[in-house]
Amino acid sequence: MKIHEYQAKDLMRRYGVAVPEGHVAFTVAEAKEAARKLPGPIRVVKAQIHAGGRGLGGGVKVCKTLDQVDEAAGAILGMMLKTHQTGPEGQLVRRLYIEGGADIRRELYLGILLDRDKGRLVVMASTEGGMNIEDVAHNTPEKIAKVWVDPKVGLQAFQCRRLGFALGLSAKGVGSFSKLLQNLYRLYTELDCSLVEVNPLIVTGTDEVMALDGKINFDDNGLFRHPHLEDLRDYDEEDPAEVEAGKFDLSYVHLDGNVGCLVNGAGLAMATMDILKHYGSEPANFLDVGGGATAEKVTAAFKIILSDERVQAIFVNIFGGIMKCDTIAEGVIAAAREVGLDRPLVVRLEGTNVELGRTLLAGSGLPITTATDMKDGAQKAVALAAQFAAQRA
Ligand code: ADP
Ligand code: MG
Repeated sequence: MKIHEYQAKDLMRRYGVAVPEGHVAFTVAEAKEAARKLPGPIRVVKAQIHAGGRGLGGGVKVCKTLDQVDEAAGAILGMMLKTHQTGPEGQLVRRLYIEGGADIRRELYLGILLDRDKGRLVVMASTEGGMNIEDVAHNTPEKIAKVWVDPKVGLQAFQCRRLGFALGLSAKGVGSFSKLLQNLYRLYTELDCSLVEVNPLIVTGTDEVMALDGKINFDDNGLFRHPHLEDLRDYDEEDPAEVEAGKFDLSYVHLDGNVGCLVNGAGLAMATMDILKHYGSEPANFLDVGGGATAEKVTAAFKIILSDERVQAIFVNIFGGIMKCDTIAEGVIAAAREVGLDRPLVVRLEGTNVELGRTLLAGSGLPITTATDMKDGAQKAVALAAQFAAQRA
């Protein structure tokens, strides 16, 4: 789960991480009110969307007067903000953060995330703050200093100092940085985060460090331990299909291809996507209905796939182990009847109760193409998708 910058900064503040004073605003009037509460004269109006690169896209405006705040808030609120992380259509700005202007001497980068290869959290720091850290990692990896944290002992003081010196901080700066980093690390671990990123982390005129931007992602698997964090969820920023899938406990990821996949088991779902690519199509989604899916769950999954306009064919690829093939067949039939099957459907069933499942499908009167195995199913789905696209054109 992702949250907004202002929410991330609220959490950081609670954990003792230095951030500028600021207030969220949902309207231009609220933005002005928020600006008045800040000492001034400099205030910054910042678009709140779940994507970075807002500054370059025109979503961050430094204002010298209250009138400028008014103007900037009016311009940014309601705009379709395009950044390298939003996609070409951009993201509608519904919230603003009005923040006091900071005294920036230097802009640095600081991030904590899980290094899966090492099985440890890695803390990364770089003098190249404010920039796209992926580019820095690609072009000048030597400019990113890293330390790995042993989970048994946690982040050590010497590791903080090592990063602080790599950032070229003064003795006072290293002290300030170490304190901030320890607090940020505590936030990461206590709240079960999957990413905490501060870009830029700034050095102020008094040689102290402060978080000027804040990105926090939570590990969804740990969310049940922090029910209060659910309040921070902003459904407007999430893919509606993924939100719907979440309600039914389906593992669904929306992709850009043309063949919708309904599969049980993450491994088989991955293999299904691979084989579709192999035969020349792109998957429209990753979807694992899980081991113990009910007909109701399958119906929900089916509807989600059909709600995607780009889907030109659906490939149901099921190996019935715990999941029974007749349950899948019932779900597919119910969903197809309910929503009206307007696109080709290829079904490959194997495993428990397969004969019963096939009989149900054959007797349904629905235009279903059956496949003998995965290869046959993928080839048929790819061909039918192309045919459907040609007919439509
Ligand atoms: P994004 O990463 O989405 O572009 P940031 O929050 O990093 O957004 O802001 C972009 C840039 O705007 C920062 O690198 C900084 O130079 C400037 N900026 C952001 N907040 C402030 C602030 N409170 N005071 C002064 N400058 C700021
Ligand atoms: Mg930033």
